[in-house]
Amino acid sequence: MFRGAAASRCYTSGMVEPKSALDASRDRFVQITIPVGMLHCNCSIVGDLATGEALVIDPGDEVSRILELLGRHKLTVKAIVSTHAHIDHVGGLYKLRQYTGAPVMMHRDDVPLYQGMDVQAAFLGVATPETGEIDQLLTDGDVLQWGSLAAQVMHTPGHSPGSISLYVPRAAGEIASVTPPQLFAGDTLFAGSIGRTDLWGGSMDVIMDSLRSKLLQLPDETVVHPGHGPRTSIGEERHSNPFLIHK
Ligand SMILES: [Zn+2]
Ligand SMILES: [Zn+2]
Repeated sequence: MFRGAAASRCYTSGMVEPKSALDASRDRFVQITIPVGMLHCNCSIVGDLATGEALVIDPGDEVSRILELLGRHKLTVKAIVSTHAHIDHVGGLYKLRQYTGAPVMMHRDDVPLYQGMDVQAAFLGVATPETGEIDQLLTDGDVLQWGSLAAQVMHTPGHSPGSISLYVPRAAGEIASVTPPQLFAGDTLFAGSIGRTDLWGGSMDVIMDSLRSKLLQLPDETVVHPGHGPRTSIGEERHSNPFLIHK
């Protein structure tokens, strides 16, 4: 089920892990991405150090590490967002919600995947992680706000029906003046590849439409944080990703 597909993938074992380090660390903002769990899902923390508010994206596993990072930066979780409901991205949702009390958010079209966690776990041969309530269902165009930051929810289906990307534009907050726009792309777009479409609810036509009509509309300088592997940029992928060039 989760083995590598021929042309597109959810993950590969050979990908270079992103650095477990502070990215875009400024006086006021912190953005941290760490790979968690056996499939190395990138979990991201985006925090406003002035207000102490943070968003956590895709806490797939290793919640104790995530909590340690939050504590180190004195951050309180304002919301926990799942880019999609594959087990490697949602395995820690319940536990992080238990510890922080923060609301869990995902797109409604991936709720069936979340509710079928035992099926996903069986395919991987792992124990089923605890699942709980979803506090807020996201739709395209929603805006999430925390501290002085804001992110736009972009529904980018194709890897799964409810896959979303989160876009933090240049205009959102003071981070605007010092860093380029940021995109948290889940498993829709990777450095040099795109999300696999052979899992439940996947569609190559649909993911290509999401990429062309939404992600490729973003500015070239947008920094992309994929769900697995190293970060990249929209411009880099527009010009070198074999799935996107000449599209
Ligand atoms: Zn994944
Ligand atoms: Zn996935």
